[in-house]
Amino acid sequence: MKKIALITSGGDAPGMNACVRAVVKYCLNHNLECLGISDGYQGMIEGRGQWMTYFDVDNIIHLGGTVLGTARSEEFRTPAGRKKAIVYLLSQKIDGLVVAGGDGSFRGAQAIGEEMNIPVVGIPCTIDNDIFGTDFTIGYDTALNTVVEAVDKIRDTASSHHRIFFVEVMGRDAGFIALNSAVAAGADAVLIPEEITDLTKLVHDIKESNKGRRGTIIIVAEGDDAGGAMEIMQKISPFFEDRNMRCTVLGHIQRGGKPSAFDRILASRMGAFAVSQLTKGLSNIMVGSKGEDLIYSSFNETVKEHSVPNMNKLKLVEDLRTNSQKF
Ligand code: ADP
Repeated sequence: MKKIALITSGGDAPGMNACVRAVVKYCLNHNLECLGISDGYQGMIEGRGQWMTYFDVDNIIHLGGTVLGTARSEEFRTPAGRKKAIVYLLSQKIDGLVVAGGDGSFRGAQAIGEEMNIPVVGIPCTIDNDIFGTDFTIGYDTALNTVVEAVDKIRDTASSHHRIFFVEVMGRDAGFIALNSAVAAGADAVLIPEEITDLTKLVHDIKESNKGRRGTIIIVAEGDDAGGAMEIMQKISPFFEDRNMRCTVLGHIQRGGKPSAFDRILASRMGAFAVSQLTKGLSNIMVGSKGEDLIYSSFNETVKEHSVPNMNKLKLVEDLRTNSQKF
């Protein structure tokens, strides 16, 4: 193996740059050339790659986003689109591909790997942390810390004004950010997509935890079955006519910012490990972390299901809630 191509694809995640740096530097230090392709599969179709040097990846380990850019490409989902991408990769004599992205990106990697007959390795990057086959995905820790910092600030105003605050966090299908930020920020309730929401219970819980207290925080994952934070707040507001309720949707601030030390370390290890596995002849795998170790699993396994958070933490939030009966 002499020349590999690298893309960042799908949703951006903090730590992608540390990952790009690791892949490129590991390649250069092991006599491999690395073609960095802009804007994911769309850039591959359009032939927008450049041979990476040390200078291209100096001073990026601490930056959010991705210097390569990322994109979603409908054209790449079609055989004709992938054909154009293959023609480009062949023209550059690419003999291995590294894809840093989510499970959608791995499906794309699998498809082009089979059609072109080159080895492909994926690196899990998403703030949602829901990719099967790894304890942690690159970007999740940073996003979690961003949310906790924001909720701490919201708590200041919630308690100053005796408010009940609903905070909506990212997680269309997964409650990792919501559940763990609820524990870390000391929220009074948390609603996640993995658990059916009982609004009657929520009303009861808020009433219980709110009596005589200055502020109450409820974290809502955007994909909760009862709706977004605003919708849920409106649904239960008739039960709290005497209370001041507010809603904050944190939105895209959760995707940006400097990656945490944890994400930089994870990205550096996974980037180097991905290239090393590629050079060993492995293909159609995603690298992952398990405890202190790096592991890999087949794309077939990783795209089959999503991982779920530790549901015991729902009980933990309840166990640590203020209970007015016990005053
Ligand atoms: P993520 O990688 O974050 O899950 P997406 O699901 O949007 O993000 O996937 C990123 C890109 O991967 C898509 O825009 C598309 O180009 C490609 N892709 C996703 N699924 C497939 C598929 N089944 N076949 C081919 N390409 C795919």
